[in-house]
Amino acid sequence: MTKNQIDIITVHIPLKMVIARPRSGRGNLVPSPKERDCFVAALLAMTAPERLLTIFVSLIAFSTCVFAQERIAVNDVRWQDGNCPVCGKKVKLAVVTATNTTCGIDRDLFIRSAGPQPEFYLIDTCPNCCFSGYLNDFDLVLPQQVKDNLKKTLKPPHPINPKIHQQEIATLDKYELAYQTFKILGRSDESFGWLTLRASWIARDLYCNLPKHPAIVDVLIEAGKLVPPAGKDSNPAEREVRQAKKLALHMTNSKTKWNYDAVIALLYRRHGENRSALKSIDRIGQNKNTPADIRDLFVQMKRSIATEQHWQELSAEHFNRAFTTGTISPANQAIAKYLLAQLYHRLGKKDEARRWLNEAILDRRLPANLLQWAKETQEQRP
Ligand SMILES: [Zn+2]
Repeated sequence: MTKNQIDIITVHIPLKMVIARPRSGRGNLVPSPKERDCFVAALLAMTAPERLLTIFVSLIAFSTCVFAQERIAVNDVRWQDGNCPVCGKKVKLAVVTATNTTCGIDRDLFIRSAGPQPEFYLIDTCPNCCFSGYLNDFDLVLPQQVKDNLKKTLKPPHPINPKIHQQEIATLDKYELAYQTFKILGRSDESFGWLTLRASWIARDLYCNLPKHPAIVDVLIEAGKLVPPAGKDSNPAEREVRQAKKLALHMTNSKTKWNYDAVIALLYRRHGENRSALKSIDRIGQNKNTPADIRDLFVQMKRSIATEQHWQELSAEHFNRAFTTGTISPANQAIAKYLLAQLYHRLGKKDEARRWLNEAILDRRLPANLLQWAKETQEQRP
């Protein structure tokens, strides 16, 4: 497989919302035994924060499905035996099948699924030498000089015991190692653009959970009533952002209520609307009534926003350079322009966001749903 083919494959993003999956009549809300087994196996294979996150996301997805009266289709993760192309040791490789977009699509194209999130399994790492990449990268035949360079250069952000199963390695460390690996393999800027965009989504999903505190549950119930239930063709991600906006309007006269800020911050944070989330997160930190454990959670959440922004900066830099050097695949150009606008908008870089919004809107290849989102973002005067 050539480098360009890999770039194009990693770009594949279904843009059409496929939320409704009725199988018979109203459908069955309970996953089949096979689906449950796959889900449980995948949960056991995760690190603790990833497990917490997946359970939380699944609960949200479940509540969404209850409203929509649909069956939950859970993503499937399996592990197959492979060999590291650098050190030759055996390594378990993740094979993920994405089956659903139950939780909707964020405006920077992060697709939210019920069950294990595919982005957590797209990058594999050899625990012995730290070689990292997509599943296909483990089929590469590399010259000895490149192998030696990889062995000498790859540095994990945290030490990795060569004897552990790679599921125990933190996902963002795998992305960091894939970034280092791709540098040595000489991958294209476009390829780095997609890799780092995915890493930013991982950072978004980490630390997006709240304890079942009664004061928080009350607000979550209130938020659920503020916006109509998710319909067949609606986007649950957009619904949650609308809930956050309505809650923010409701709390204008009650800014001492930390639980409102907690739910607003969570709903915005889950979809990468970080500039809005940060306003609530800062108020939670300043509010004397905020319980200590909640305060700590939001300190972590704020840190995860900084990590997401680090990867977003890299993604924008690489996509930008791919355009400057004329190396971006023609089939991906319109979507990449749209993404650049979204990235700059989220990073608060107004001039760049405006420039790429204009470029995206003028590009006739931009799919209709992204054109609509681009116009709505433009109306917000980024
Ligand atoms: Zn290896």
